[in-house]
Amino acid sequence: MDDGKPVWAPHPTDGFQLGRIIDISADSLTIEPLNQRGKNFQAPVNQVFPAEDDVNKHVEDNCSLMYLNEATLLNNVRVRYSKDKIYTFVANILIAVNPYFEIPKLYSPETIKQYHGRSLGTLPPHVYAIADKAYRDMKVLKMSQSIIVSGESGAGKTENTKFVLRYLTTSYGTGQDIDERIVEANPLLEAFGNAKTVRNNNSSRFGKFVEIHFNEKNAVVGGFVSHYLLEKSRICTQGQEERNYHIFYRLCAGAPEDIKEKFHLSSPDCFRYLSRGCTRYFSTKDSDKLIPQNRKSPEHLKAGPLKDPLLDDHADFNRMCVAMKKIGLDDTEKLNMFRVVAGVLHLGNIDFEEAGSTSGGCVLKKTCSQPLEFCAELLGLDEEDLRVSLTTRVMHTTAGGAKGTAIKVPLKVEQASSARDALAKAIYSRLFDHVVTRINQCFPFDSSAHFIGVLDIAGFEYFEHNSFEQFCINYCNEKLQQFFNERILKEEQELYQREGLGVNEVHYVDNQDCIDLVEAKLVGVLDILDEENRLPQPSDQHFTETVHGKHKDHFRLTVPRKSKLTVHRNVRDDEGFIIRHFAGAVCYETTRFVEKNNDALHTSLASLVSESKDKFIGELFENSNHSKDTKQKAGKLSFISVGNKFKVSLKITYFVRCVKPNLKMVSHHFEGAQILSQLQSHSFTSCQNFILLFVHIIISIFTKFLSLYSVWVPDVSQHTCLCVFIKGKKITVSAKNIKQHKSLLCVCVCVCVCVCVRIDGLVK
Ligand code: ATP
Ligand code: MG
Repeated sequence: MDDGKPVWAPHPTDGFQLGRIIDISADSLTIEPLNQRGKNFQAPVNQVFPAEDDVNKHVEDNCSLMYLNEATLLNNVRVRYSKDKIYTFVANILIAVNPYFEIPKLYSPETIKQYHGRSLGTLPPHVYAIADKAYRDMKVLKMSQSIIVSGESGAGKTENTKFVLRYLTTSYGTGQDIDERIVEANPLLEAFGNAKTVRNNNSSRFGKFVEIHFNEKNAVVGGFVSHYLLEKSRICTQGQEERNYHIFYRLCAGAPEDIKEKFHLSSPDCFRYLSRGCTRYFSTKDSDKLIPQNRKSPEHLKAGPLKDPLLDDHADFNRMCVAMKKIGLDDTEKLNMFRVVAGVLHLGNIDFEEAGSTSGGCVLKKTCSQPLEFCAELLGLDEEDLRVSLTTRVMHTTAGGAKGTAIKVPLKVEQASSARDALAKAIYSRLFDHVVTRINQCFPFDSSAHFIGVLDIAGFEYFEHNSFEQFCINYCNEKLQQFFNERILKEEQELYQREGLGVNEVHYVDNQDCIDLVEAKLVGVLDILDEENRLPQPSDQHFTETVHGKHKDHFRLTVPRKSKLTVHRNVRDDEGFIIRHFAGAVCYETTRFVEKNNDALHTSLASLVSESKDKFIGELFENSNHSKDTKQKAGKLSFISVGNKFKVSLKITYFVRCVKPNLKMVSHHFEGAQILSQLQSHSFTSCQNFILLFVHIIISIFTKFLSLYSVWVPDVSQHTCLCVFIKGKKITVSAKNIKQHKSLLCVCVCVCVCVCVRIDGLVK
């Protein structure tokens, strides 16, 4: 690198900048920037990488780069992005950069046709190529397949998941209703489970695993959606500039007048659960400019100040109704769902004040008789029963260890408010469960031979202020990363060992300790939090202190003040903790952890709703199992079951790693440094261990010449090894001997393998 050739050196915002080495000292290099005006600067040796000869040239598979390192990888993705080529392979992992605009024809029916049955690598990288590969492997190997779509919030996971579903149903469906229903289920799911956040206007606040089932003839027969970890706290309160679930606003904005009247709906501003995000969207001229032209409807700005200028709730309501119709929901079912949504809104408007008596209890504020009436009416409850259940709690006196008489204990204002919020969360999450169950009934199947599953879970989140929601999501991502580590890195390494290749160990950080920190029995953060909730006077501070006390010297956990993350130094040690995740350290502020964890319904409220006069509400609460609810709130059990599904029934996994190009959520803007950190957390850069210039040259020639699907070359310093992937099979040419027998043999082996493989491909 020191022969005057261009190198990539670190750059604070672009990730890397092009330069030239002009001086070398023991542990740093002096770099003269190229292409950019600036002073010479020092860079650590291990952060400077050789650049490709032509930095404006790009390749479809990062593995075909002459020099594969994090800088060339980033540059390749950048050059491709600038040409609207958002997909790039790293062997059979697909990187997908969110373009934030519709690239013409990228997902058109013609493009779907093009990818039909085509081997990976024969056409430009595309999520359709991954979907088709999964399908062909399922067919040939007679084994279910899975595609894991990951990335941070707003990176494009949900969009890519939808493209996979559309591709599979269009290409391999039977042309019947089922195909359309699998695709149309999404707008409905998103209406109830997505919300606007600061990172994504349509952020999925739940994880989902969608299975597309195929019969013996490998045609689509049905689908199944598993969901987990719906963010319940959002139902009652939202962060600054964030919104509640779309359905609430859409209903207020788009429902026909008679429905609005029947459900006593008005502008979102009238509902406490919708105005807690503290954002008021005034329809000023400025915000008007932000509205995409094609999303302006006459009703757009009518819905009051809580209207988000970027979202057209009225149009989205109509779109959602069309989806409901297409998947076969009738008007009664639709109205039932809407009624519950309206009921939750009115419930949120019920407020309490001190009773003013010696009992220490509370009563409903005088202004709240109407919300109580509306809520009771919509949920089929008795108004008086609802009032009593919200302000008191039934306890059983114990006489000599036996359960005695039931007494009504008055609740304090805060306790009654928590009871109300717990009820709202329980009702809404039951409704969401129902929506998913109902969707699953829309594409039933009697028998299925195999399925292709697509996992779309909320990506790793780190904000300036991180709370319980981020904690749960990041814990899920930690588990996903563990799966990725085991599936890709550990298994590859074991394979090399089995084959006696003596390949250098690929270093990755085992994150089991981080997962244990969260989920271990009794000492894990989740169990400590549950325990706190059971105390007579739980407090966030006590919970935080217990966490620190139990994990004093844990590598993964530190107190905020001691941390290097200066931005979090203002968080007191008893107000938070920092967890070192695989993707970086995150400071969680524990204020309201206890409250957010508290979904438990008082027995009296639980039985009140389960005995509702309204059949629909009654059914939502049938078989109510509170302990299940409590455990699922952090996704502990449910994630494990999804995880197990992967481990047990799926042998092959494809990864689509989505990347968010910028924090502004705009098109044509590549923020190198923050993209680099996303790529780093995806572990792609471990590939840098696998470089051999010499073999790469041969491979790039042969891959072009013979259009092989993909070739990559592990470690070089010890032994050379050529792996050829074809039709899902990896043919590994162990080449300890290559090194011994020098380059000629190497060339021969490569040529032979490539030709054999090609012939094999042609014959098949
Ligand atoms: P979250 O974790 O918050 O749910 P996500 O990764 O699922 O985020 P998406 O909702 O899929 O992110 O994408 C965010 C937005 O980016 C979309 O609403 C869409 O506007 C845009 N987008 C994503 N992928 C594409 C694409 N391939 N083409 C055009 N726009 C896209
Ligand atoms: Mg999403």
